[in-house]
Amino acid sequence: MTTQYNLFINNEWRVPQGGKWFDSLDPFSGEAWASIPRAGEQDVDAAMEAAAEALEGPWSRLSGSERGAILHRLGALIEENAETLAVVESRDNGKLYSEVLGQVRYVSKYFYYYAGLCDKIQGAVIPIDKPKVFNYTRYEPMGVVASITPWNSSLLLTAWKMAPALCGGNTMVCKPSEFTSASLLELAKLFEPAGLPAGVANVVTGFGSEIGERLISHPSVARIAFTGGDQAGRAVARLAGEHLKRVSVELGGKSPNIVFDDADLDNAVNGVITGIFSAGGQTCMAGSRLLVQENIHDAFVEKLLEVTKRAKAGDPTKPDTRVGPVATRPQFEKVMSYIDIAKNEGARCVAGGRALTGEGYGAGQIVEPTIFIDVNNAMRIAQEEVFGPVLAVLRFKDEEDAIRIGNDIKFGLAAGVWTKSLHRAMLLSEKLKAGTVWINNYRSTSFTTPFGGYKDSGIGREGGMDAVKEYMEVKSVWVSSDLEMPDPFVRKY
Ligand code: NAD
Repeated sequence: MTTQYNLFINNEWRVPQGGKWFDSLDPFSGEAWASIPRAGEQDVDAAMEAAAEALEGPWSRLSGSERGAILHRLGALIEENAETLAVVESRDNGKLYSEVLGQVRYVSKYFYYYAGLCDKIQGAVIPIDKPKVFNYTRYEPMGVVASITPWNSSLLLTAWKMAPALCGGNTMVCKPSEFTSASLLELAKLFEPAGLPAGVANVVTGFGSEIGERLISHPSVARIAFTGGDQAGRAVARLAGEHLKRVSVELGGKSPNIVFDDADLDNAVNGVITGIFSAGGQTCMAGSRLLVQENIHDAFVEKLLEVTKRAKAGDPTKPDTRVGPVATRPQFEKVMSYIDIAKNEGARCVAGGRALTGEGYGAGQIVEPTIFIDVNNAMRIAQEEVFGPVLAVLRFKDEEDAIRIGNDIKFGLAAGVWTKSLHRAMLLSEKLKAGTVWINNYRSTSFTTPFGGYKDSGIGREGGMDAVKEYMEVKSVWVSSDLEMPDPFVRKY
């Protein structure tokens, strides 16, 4: 028995106008478990219309404090319903239930944080170089925001957009990945109880190739907030540019995790493993390029192998499972193909390298935690995003070498540095071209601080107070205190 969902438009559950649904598969069992509405352009138009009406209607009449109270209630409802939401999301993306539950609970904190900010978005009084004039700035919502998100962390990545966008007084049409749509439809059940007026937040599900273009180019949409892969990200940015829509694209990474010989090596091992094998490596911020100082390389790899061996693979709903399935079949095939590419390039596989099949491994979509050594930075396994549990280990000589290799890549999302030297930590945090640098920790994120990439890892930042202004226009207002307008044909110098 599959669960059938409908589209959420204008606080109503609507069947897709084309009358079509598609299956969502459980990545562990391989079975279809949910039936997801396949929205077409007419459904996008209906959602956009609802969002545009809400923008001018009830939503615009609320004060910042009233908006904040609604966002706060939504946060509280997410917290209350975290287990249900986590069961659904984990079923859809195959990530460990325990990990998804922690993530969903954290989603509520994004709403609390931005709830508190709703009535603190202030412009400024600007001193002007002209007499008898008063100038001030005010921040206004951009309009309807279209959010487009990937399959790895559907709720969290939507919250990164929705909480600041609603905080700024915008309305939204959200499109989750076609592989993991159910959790966002479950979240939509909480919108009306939280007090969101009809049309403020809408969810349309379907395929990027079918409705992506309409979502981006629709006349009512003002801002696109995209997270996903490089290829789709470029297509989204191109189309947004053509239509002069404001856009952010949060894309992939191949982040260096750099271990110096003076680091606490046990801590560093834990940090490296967290960086690559949490979420089965299916995270944009994965520390998938491990750079180890050459004099400790062999000893460090040995420690890494010992800890990696302990990771139990299997059913993601079981509390002792550490490695679950890859979220989608195409992604599983992509990960396996990168393992072949690395072997053919001459990298040496010292852990994993296989898919696990048989009893306890479900439909066979689990990839063993895999470690390659003897990798050089020109290899594809060092340069391209695998988005799976595959670690490439490289050696470096000194600080300069670590910075050179760390930056010698098109991505710039994040980096980790393991050292006890304050000097090294400060030097690397300054020199590495990455949006986030973690010193003696890895994978920490918070609603209070920005996250986003340099270079091909994207455009824009999410999180922190400034994220709200990414969804707002600033207006400069000039008020003359001169009672008479001067004669327009007499210029004064
Ligand atoms: P994807 O790019 O295939 O899909 C992302 C979303 O874009 C989906 O909803 C999809 O339907 C939609 N889409 C696809 N083509 C489109 C088009 N032409 N127009 C509009 N929408 C379109 O990505 P994915 O495979 O779902 O996710 C994995 C990628 O996401 C990885 O590269 C990963 O690094 C990246 N990611 C980045 C971050 C970050 O914050 N930087 C976070 C998580 C994931």
